[in-house]
Amino acid sequence: MSDQIQTLRQLQEVDAQLYRLRREQQHKPLVLERTRQLVAEQQAKAQASEAHLKALQLQQKEKELELSAKEANVKKLQMQLFQVKTNKEYTAIQHEIEQTKGDVSLVEEEILKVMGAIETASQDRQAQLAQAAEQQAHFQDEEVRLNQELQAIEEQHDRLQGQRNGILPLIKSPTLAVYERVLASRDGLAMVPLVQESCGGCHMVQPPQVVSEVHLNAKLVTCESCNRILYLETAHELS
Ligand SMILES: [Zn+2]
Repeated sequence: MSDQIQTLRQLQEVDAQLYRLRREQQHKPLVLERTRQLVAEQQAKAQASEAHLKALQLQQKEKELELSAKEANVKKLQMQLFQVKTNKEYTAIQHEIEQTKGDVSLVEEEILKVMGAIETASQDRQAQLAQAAEQQAHFQDEEVRLNQELQAIEEQHDRLQGQRNGILPLIKSPTLAVYERVLASRDGLAMVPLVQESCGGCHMVQPPQVVSEVHLNAKLVTCESCNRILYLETAHELS
């Protein structure tokens, strides 16, 4: 059994790396996905800022039309002044002219305010677009890097799989079956050392019977709690 345990430990070393690589294969794309979401969020912000700017520009146009209409009205009223027949009529039109001129000033002020807002919104839009472009470029770099990393992982995975296939024929099939089952159920860790009298995987203290069986090394011994295969570290490993 001693040889089998040593071979299983070699297999475990390879499998530990294979499991680590598979975890990386799963995890790395998630990180990129988060970056993709950030890009989308920033693009949405840039679009909102664009829409806000357009709304303000439209508002400015409307105010300018309103201003022209009021100015035209002032001119029309001034023409009417020449045609009035009574003082009363004259005073009434004069009053209307003053009132409309007051309205003109108000609209002019409103236009200035909108123009100020447009300037701010335009700067904001520029900043948002620049940030969106920067994030997009960052995402593309990350995507290239991820694909390179995944490619490297794939190659390493294939190499380890080759090593694994080389080790498998050295292990008796009932032993291998136990190992494979524990490996799958314990997320890639099937072989653990006996640490004093405890399992090196789940740390549960083992009954004396189990401890002596591990020392005897005559058959495959598993932890009663987590089912991992227990082995004794050699004196060399412990020193
Ligand atoms: Zn255990």
